[in-house]
Amino acid sequence: MTETKNKMSLTKKVLIGMGLGILTGFLIRSVFADIAFIHDYIVHGLFHVGGAVFIASLKMLVVPLIFVSLVCGTSSLKDLSTLGRLGGKTVTFYLVTTGIAITLAIVMANIFQPGVGIDLAQATTFASKEAPSLGDVIINMFPTNPVSSMAEGNTLQIIVFAILFGIAISASGKAGERIATLFSDFNEVIMKLVVMLMNIAPYGVFFLMAKLFSEIGLDAIFNLMNYFLVLSATLIIHALVTYSAFFKIFTGLSPVKFFRKMETAITFAFSTASSNATIPVTLETATKHLGVNNRVASFTVPLGATINMDGTAIMQGVATVFIAQAFNIDLTLSDYAAVIMTATLASVGTAGVPGVGLIMLAMVLNQVGLPVEGIAMIMGVDRLLDMIRTAVNITGDSVVTCIVAKSEGEMDIDVFNDPDTAYKAEKIGLSKVQQE
Ligand code: ASP
Repeated sequence: MTETKNKMSLTKKVLIGMGLGILTGFLIRSVFADIAFIHDYIVHGLFHVGGAVFIASLKMLVVPLIFVSLVCGTSSLKDLSTLGRLGGKTVTFYLVTTGIAITLAIVMANIFQPGVGIDLAQATTFASKEAPSLGDVIINMFPTNPVSSMAEGNTLQIIVFAILFGIAISASGKAGERIATLFSDFNEVIMKLVVMLMNIAPYGVFFLMAKLFSEIGLDAIFNLMNYFLVLSATLIIHALVTYSAFFKIFTGLSPVKFFRKMETAITFAFSTASSNATIPVTLETATKHLGVNNRVASFTVPLGATINMDGTAIMQGVATVFIAQAFNIDLTLSDYAAVIMTATLASVGTAGVPGVGLIMLAMVLNQVGLPVEGIAMIMGVDRLLDMIRTAVNITGDSVVTCIVAKSEGEMDIDVFNDPDTAYKAEKIGLSKVQQE
């Protein structure tokens, strides 16, 4: 520890990577925009390749990590009723926090009225998608072929298969014990892969940000300044006020410490705009830094990244009211109730990848009879907002993870309170001898 103490923590390096990336991007955009060499070889060469490799490596870990850690988690549960209780509590908290998020969004959008006086000339067409029925959603959770679920990266199907597999392991006596040991070894190895990836994260984050900010059109934000401000303020209020209150009330622990430990995961979510790609970091944060037992985190984190999207629900709430105001359409109280219901469902159905929240917004607009073309108006500013809402999404997953774990006695408070668990760059050697 003494050696790492004076070295910079990985969290700081990642934050610096992000800051430098944003600055570099702005610089290229404002000063070197016309230089073909920079455009072709730096932005579309180095930054593009570096960022894409980083995202691919993160995604590469998601499926094996979810499967292996969840099998480990489920097979170590004492009895089946624990699983039911865990599932019930988790889903309830996920839905309640999402409901609060969208209600807050509607209230904020009605107070600040970002859509009043907007020029609709820019609206173009937008193709909406049909919402799947609840029955289909349930049927789709069950894999017909677990290998193809993994190949497609279908998180819910992988979760269902891993849980069943884990239960079967614990019911299989000696054979089950042998397989459980194997999986627990697998888990160690995959977590090591996560650590390897964390080591290159500062560079990966730099490339992603530098490319994005050298290309992103910020003029659109000026045109939609009110929408942008109301939405980002609501996201920040929900993260800081609602989550802190929930965290304090239900765990009795310090929300400040919680946010400190979340810095790295939040930075990842922000730079990748994907809850799904952030799963390895969220899981590592929950287990190694927040002190949540893998039995709980291996279930709540991937589930949350798939179905719990408070930030997305907030965007859908503000955007719906904004579009209604821009088109001069009055929403009634029952419309608002419908928005709360559908946006909650739409955020459940939103995949944890960039930009999907906006596509799912069509479902909410359809529900209350608003023109889907409205989505085209806000598309131009969505990328940056997507980054902020993804950070909120994974923070919500982690809050609920801690709440459920604490209530189940599955949270190690000493780890939570230990400031020294902050991310440190870890040397990965190839020597066969483990240095403990
Ligand atoms: N990008 C978001 C996420 O991955 C989903 C969305 O709102 O588009 O959490």
